[in-house]
Order: sequence, then C-alpha cells, then structure tokens
Amino acid sequence: MTQDNFWKEYVAAELSRMREQSLLREMPLVDRGVDRFIDHAGQRLLNLASNNYLGLAGHPALREAAADAARDLGAGSGASRIVTGTFALYDALERELAEFKGTQAALTVGSGYAANVAIMTALADRNTVVFSDRLNHASIIDGITLSRAEHVRYRHGDMDHLAVMMARHADTRRKILVTDTVFSMDGDRADLPAIVRLCRDNGVLIVVDEAHAAGILGNGRGLAHEMGLADEIDVHMGTFSKAFGSYGAYVAASADLVALVRNRGRSFVFSTSLPPSVMAANLAALGLVRSDDGRAERLLTMAADLRTHLAALGFDTGDSTTQIVPVIIGGNDEAVAAREFLMARGLCVPAIRPPTVPAGTARLRVSLRADLTDTDMAGVREAFAALAGEMHS
Ligand code: PMP
Repeated sequence: MTQDNFWKEYVAAELSRMREQSLLREMPLVDRGVDRFIDHAGQRLLNLASNNYLGLAGHPALREAAADAARDLGAGSGASRIVTGTFALYDALERELAEFKGTQAALTVGSGYAANVAIMTALADRNTVVFSDRLNHASIIDGITLSRAEHVRYRHGDMDHLAVMMARHADTRRKILVTDTVFSMDGDRADLPAIVRLCRDNGVLIVVDEAHAAGILGNGRGLAHEMGLADEIDVHMGTFSKAFGSYGAYVAASADLVALVRNRGRSFVFSTSLPPSVMAANLAALGLVRSDDGRAERLLTMAADLRTHLAALGFDTGDSTTQIVPVIIGGNDEAVAAREFLMARGLCVPAIRPPTVPAGTARLRVSLRADLTDTDMAGVREAFAALAGEMHS
C-alpha cells in the first residue's frame, strides 16, 4: 500500500465534503417487515419509501412460489444462460411476459440497471446517436456511456427541444430515443404521443423504461399500453423489483431485437442469471397483476387525493400524476429537516438530494403503496399538515 496516506486522506476528505453538504447517505439498520411498517431504531414507521407499490413483496403467492422453486431447482442458477441453457421456468416466464406485453419475445435480465445497460450496449455504438431525457434514470445514462454512443440529452419533457436535437442529427443513420415512461423522482409521465410522432418522422428507434409504470398503468402493461401506443415502441423495458414486488427486469421486443440483446447486451452475457426463486416469484407476480384485483386503481386514487391535500397546504408536488409524489423543498438541509420532522411523526419518507435530483430541488419523495389503509392515509395527511405549519410559520 504505497499510497496509503494519500488515499486515506482523499477518501476521508471526500466523505467529509459530502457530509458537510448533507449528501452523505446512511443505511440505518431497520427491521424491514414486508408489510407497511419498518422498525427504525425501535420506532415503528409507516414505509413511504419503497417501490413495493402494490404491496406484493409480502404476498403469500410470491413467497410460496419462491420457496418451492428454491427447493426444486436450487438456490442459484449457476451461470449465464447463454453458457448453461435455460430452465423451463425461465422460458415460461418469458413466454407469458411476451404475451402480456404483446411482443414477439421477451428476455429477463438480472436487474433494471442491468437491463438498461444490456439494451444500450446491444443496440448502440460509436456510430449511434442516443436522444435521452435529461431526467432519465442513471442506469440508462450508464448504458449509453458504456455503449460509447453520442449522448444527446434533451430538456426534461421538452418536445420542442427534442425536435431541434433530432433535426441537428438528421444525417446520422442509427438513432435511438430512450425515455423513462414514469420518472422516478418526479412521478410525471413522458409525452409518448409526441415522442412517437417525432421518432417516426425522423427514423428513430424507441426504447421505453416502464420501471415505475409496469404493474400499475395500462392494466399493468405500462404507459405505452395505456396510451394505445404499445405497437409503436420498439423496445419495452420494465422491472420486477417495484410494483411486481420481486426482483429483476425484462426486455420485450421483436424476436430479432431480443436475440440481439441476448447476444450482445454486456450485462446479460457476462452476468449470472437470476436464481429460480426470483423467477418463480416474478411469474407469480405476473399472474397477480394480470388478474387485476383493483390494487393499481386504488393506488392511483390515493395518490391523486394526497396531491390535492398537499397542494391545499401550499406544497409543490411538481408534475406528478402517479403513485410517486414529490414534495419539493429546495435546499438539502431543509429537506433533511423535513424528513426528520415526519419521522418523529411516524413516517418514513426519504429526502432525495443532488446528484439524484438537480441542485436546489431537494425533495421528500412519497411513494405510496396500494396496501395503505384509510387510517394510514389520514395519518399521512395530518403529518404533512403539521409540517406545513412548521415550515410556513
Ligand atoms: N429504471 C428506472 C426508471 C428506475 O427507477 C430504476 C430503479 N430505481 C431502474 C431502472 C433500475 O431497476 P433495478 O432497481 O431493478 O435495478
């Protein structure tokens, strides 16, 4: 360790700089039940911080499917599927997914992060231009970076800016547009009709990340289906880690596009596939989402009611129209203070700060879940009313 002191000091200085800016993240030990509560330092908190939007993570059908698969097929999958082949269970999930999404084929990938990296590294290279919404998820950005494509970021949701960018790259043959359909830190939706129109006019391949829409919008199929535009989308990506209550992700597209991702997507090719227990839980979750028991509708209604309440209290919830309800505070310290205030009142609501969101837009991010009761929601409304009193006094 020749650089021992240099590196020790460098790492300590980086951490202390982050601490000073209220940017240092902690991972407090919590007793995480699968229901609506977590225990944090002995305090029971209502969990408004998870992406378990439909409350399926604790569903008996998922737990039993996972346990049975682990018993029957083992704890691990052993290797990448292109080395050892595929269990029938994996094939069954992918067939059902393709049918659900209305595509020729589907491929499961280790995580949402890995799926975006796989898509971008399979489709893009130095000779490709990728148009990407400025607020797209980090995994999309990392996938574009790894692909070495030219990364063209357009202002969030700004279709005029996108049109200008597309005109500027009219001479490039291989062009891709990639967008979240529901944005993770704002809970707003991409303007898919305008995106589809622009991409069609300019010969641009469309990739959508439905991570926060899958299981909820469009009868669980995502925003593209809700808008009647599913057939206009070339590559549908979604995760099992959020509303589906499990883990992993999928890419649904034409058989050829899926074959390309399977062969060239670096995070698929060079990574061990998901374990059988996870795949079985995913299949069970898909069955529940398809059976549509009204969970998604309840979730969206709860979110709309909360936004109305927060607006009446003078809070800014941005352009949210989904189960993700940001409460934009501004400064990092103020956002952390608001989080602590709500925690003292029994709510676990994360404070999201730069670099996850732009500087000056630190926020509380309330993510609702369908299994919250009316009493839970009354408590949430009360706590925010108290916070408003505190902040605006
Ligand atoms: N895409 C989006 C839009 C996301 O919000 C996330 C996770 N926060 C991911 C991809 C990554 O998914 P995963 O957590 O399954 O890796």
